[in-house]
Amino acid sequence: MPVQPRRGGASQPSLISRLARKFAGRRAPEAALDHLQLDLPLFGSSTPSTPPVMPLAPLPPETPRTAGGPRTRTLQLGARSLEYKLKRSARRTIGFSIDGSGLSVTAPRWVTLTDVETAIAEKQKWIFTKLAEWKNRVEQRALPRIIWEDGASLPFLGKPILIRLESNSGTLEFDAASATLAIGLPAHAEAEQIKDRVQGWLQTEAKRLFVERLDLYAVRLEVNYSSCALSSAATRWGSCSSDGKIRLNWRLIHFPLPIIDYVVAHELSHLREMNHGPRFWETVETVFPEFREARQTLRQHPPELLPIL
Ligand SMILES: [Zn+2]
Repeated sequence: MPVQPRRGGASQPSLISRLARKFAGRRAPEAALDHLQLDLPLFGSSTPSTPPVMPLAPLPPETPRTAGGPRTRTLQLGARSLEYKLKRSARRTIGFSIDGSGLSVTAPRWVTLTDVETAIAEKQKWIFTKLAEWKNRVEQRALPRIIWEDGASLPFLGKPILIRLESNSGTLEFDAASATLAIGLPAHAEAEQIKDRVQGWLQTEAKRLFVERLDLYAVRLEVNYSSCALSSAATRWGSCSSDGKIRLNWRLIHFPLPIIDYVVAHELSHLREMNHGPRFWETVETVFPEFREARQTLRQHPPELLPIL
């Protein structure tokens, strides 16, 4: 969410607030069980129906895909060369998606590389159009930055909180009633110091809350996760490995709790279904029935629209 200390312009916090209201009072029922893995990309590829998906203005990934990730291939199309990542899956059709890292192609294991490349060539007009749109978005992205000073504001659990430098105790204090975070720094504190302190607090809160929600949803889903780490991935809200290691983007802390719960439920559901097939979504639905809305919200709020911290 661009957090703009009241400087006019797009009011993203209100989007989040609207969402908070929309979700207010909803609760998730109970679950069933099973076992497996996967991760939650920010754009497109987690959709059950997968036509080419236009990304929502992603960022180039901060960290390259790690071991096991698809490698980048290059295809020459006339005068242009196109880089893409090829991922094999159990799906029956070839899927294309474009996100912060460019084009990804998902194809059934039995489809040859030649067939994949033929499909890309057939789809090239769409692909190049979408890649160009994505590039434009990146270029046009004039990101509002938080002005790190007394009186700055940023979303926390879907609602704006006010940053104050001075605190009564001289240390960090959060007052939920007034939604004020007093960080206990002198009036002449540098922006960097303010930022570090606020970010540190946000991450601490994120970790505490994520573990709490993971524990809750793990019980509902009857799964066990082995660890929880914070990530700051630019293209992912969360991930889950087959050995039960969950990573959650700490920036989720800007969103209302139901959105965090959705990501938590999503990742834990991968411990039962290592895919994004119908059974996976049924699993998610058992503990988080309003997952479609939450998923949509996250798509509309890619991380580069979150405050720059
Ligand atoms: Zn997933």
